Amino acid sequence: MNIILLGPPGAGKGTQAKILVEARGMVQLSTGDMLRSAKTSGTEIGDRVAAVMDAGKLVTDEIVIALIAEKLDGDTAAGFIFDGFPRTLAQADALGFLLASKGTSLDHVVQMQVDDEALVRRVTARSACGSCGEGYNDISKPVPSNGNCLQCGSSNFIRRSDDNEDSLRTRLMAYYKETSPLIGYYHAKGILSSVNGLDEITQVQSSISEVLG
Ligand code: AMP
Repeated sequence: MNIILLGPPGAGKGTQAKILVEARGMVQLSTGDMLRSAKTSGTEIGDRVAAVMDAGKLVTDEIVIALIAEKLDGDTAAGFIFDGFPRTLAQADALGFLLASKGTSLDHVVQMQVDDEALVRRVTARSACGSCGEGYNDISKPVPSNGNCLQCGSSNFIRRSDDNEDSLRTRLMAYYKETSPLIGYYHAKGILSSVNGLDEITQVQSSISEVLG
């Protein structure tokens, strides 16, 4: 089964994708994660996209489509979760063609709805363990007072360089302008469902499970 988790920054796409990876053995394809790792490893693509990402703008369709195309050659048995991709109509068209060329298609697009105020609160409060990636939130899940990660014990915590209010405003603008047309696009294809992303993580998880069956 191949699915897209669609929603603005901070809607919880990454969190729910990781749960689905654990529960169903699906493969998470996050273009944001791929671009961030290109950035930190200092590849040519990473250098080209660093400033664009920090400003909260979209990286070119050409770059992200190439990243995804490369990953689709991997194991597809349990299916893919597209997280943060597609973000434009051109990317959505390209994904359709890529999947068709592998003899497969999209089964569900799950729109995660969260209002803007909650997004600002969530995004500006989030951090992660720099070693294992465990996520934290200043309000709902603060870094332990002993300063050690709950999962791996590391004391190295990081915040994304684009998780600040200025960049978030640009990212939200990009979402409404470039990405939200995908809601109508997938609705017309009959594969769109919506869940309330403001619910507790476990409740969102069951709403998504209900959609996927
Ligand atoms: P994310 O982790 O999904 O919030 O993505 C972080 C940043 O990476 C975005 O603000 C964009 O600059 C870039 N990015 C990630 N995915 C895409 C995409 N599908 N199209 C264009 N830019 C992207």
